Amino acid sequence: MNNKFYTLSLPEDMLANLRAIGYEQMTQIQALSLPHLLQNKDVLAQAKTGSGKTAAFGIAILQHLNSKKLNIQSLILCPTRELATQTATQLRILARYKQNIKILTLCGGGAFWPQANSLRHGAHIIVATPGRILKHLNKQTCNFNTLNTLVLDEADRMLDMGFYDDVEKIISFLPTKRQTLLFSATFTQEVKEISSKICNNAIHIEAPVSKEINKMQEIFFEIEDTNKDDALIHLLGHYQPKNVLIFCNTKIQTDATAKLCQDNNIDALAIHGDLEQYTRDDVLVQFSNNSLRALVATDVAARGLDIKELAMVINYDLPFDSKTYTHRIGRTARAASEGIACTLYKQSDDISMYNNTNIAFLHVNTLDKPSNFKMKPLYKTIVIEGGKKNKLRAGDILGALTANTKLGRDDIGKIYVYDRQSYVAIQTNKTDEAFKQLKHNKIKAKKFSIWLLD
Ligand code: ADP
Ligand code: MG
Repeated sequence: MNNKFYTLSLPEDMLANLRAIGYEQMTQIQALSLPHLLQNKDVLAQAKTGSGKTAAFGIAILQHLNSKKLNIQSLILCPTRELATQTATQLRILARYKQNIKILTLCGGGAFWPQANSLRHGAHIIVATPGRILKHLNKQTCNFNTLNTLVLDEADRMLDMGFYDDVEKIISFLPTKRQTLLFSATFTQEVKEISSKICNNAIHIEAPVSKEINKMQEIFFEIEDTNKDDALIHLLGHYQPKNVLIFCNTKIQTDATAKLCQDNNIDALAIHGDLEQYTRDDVLVQFSNNSLRALVATDVAARGLDIKELAMVINYDLPFDSKTYTHRIGRTARAASEGIACTLYKQSDDISMYNNTNIAFLHVNTLDKPSNFKMKPLYKTIVIEGGKKNKLRAGDILGALTANTKLGRDDIGKIYVYDRQSYVAIQTNKTDEAFKQLKHNKIKAKKFSIWLLD
């Protein structure tokens, strides 16, 4: 099958942009869904985590967009703010070939009135969490009369009990003549039934699970209730992964597990819904730029996040069902990299639902582990209180760091520039030097406050 993007009727500048981003060919779900998406059909698409679902609907939305009319044409609903932010970022990259496309993120946690103000100035695409959109609808600070396309990302989550009421209310504000797209890694029968109420004869598409993508090792470890913590430390000591996402089932447990890691010289932080939004952002940045080795999370906090090159996933707590298991382990072995997914369970646990021939069963004691080990981060993160709104770019920050100092390009890791803040990763042994450099010198002839994330 020829899966090249040019087999679709897309404009040449969009194709050029896709090549520039490095998308050489369509992923399976893109190849299967895009022909229907581009014909304005309703679609329910299922494909594993990391298979490029965002670009599938993103390309279709952009292709249908009339950029000359500054009104809301598409709404993408996501379950968490992090996912909404990530989706908006990916859309902006896909939209680079078109001038003046306005993509707005509307989520709880951010101040309401500045959002309302941005809405007054107009937008083409809204990426949002349901609660905040409802608030805007109720206060009449946005309207969707001109909407063409609704996307529910992580659709099974958006249509389950926690969200469905909100989503249903939002839909009552949308034109009935529209394209409705549902994307997820899993769909329950129940959700498929509900989906028929909000879609119009949706075409169901499921990307086959291809064998070659599976470069992941899945291992289950039977443990006794009393030595769960020891088993976790043992696994970390044995593998010492570059980075690891550890799943727990409750917020309290994420905090306890993060503390356990820290007490054992393993650099770790917890993330869950009770943290302030800015703390969650900081933690995620540190994890994705390798300033944090272990992130301990609940399912909701980690849903859909695209963290590249994740070496390892550990299920400290057994997931509630096989669907959750698929979502969790889908985060490792993305694209070309290899990964390992370890699950701890007790003899009394029913694990028959993970009935999967790929799974190996081992005992932790068969794995050797150094008696004394540390897992320190490779980088540290410096925050700069200035971003796109201050016309800062990654190159400016890099320039300021490497001008006349002992710092080289290799000492500097990822640089993220957001609207009002930027984050730069520095090799741990060079952090002091970098901090001094930024503290005493200007970036683009301006002084910014800076601090270190710990
Ligand atoms: P999903 O929503 O299916 O979990 P994402 O949309 O987050 O996955 O995509 C996972 C990663 O794959 C992203 O980093 C994205 O940039 C990348 N990606 C998407 N489409 C392609 C493609 N055609 N070729 C290469 N990489 C792609
Ligand atoms: Mg996704």
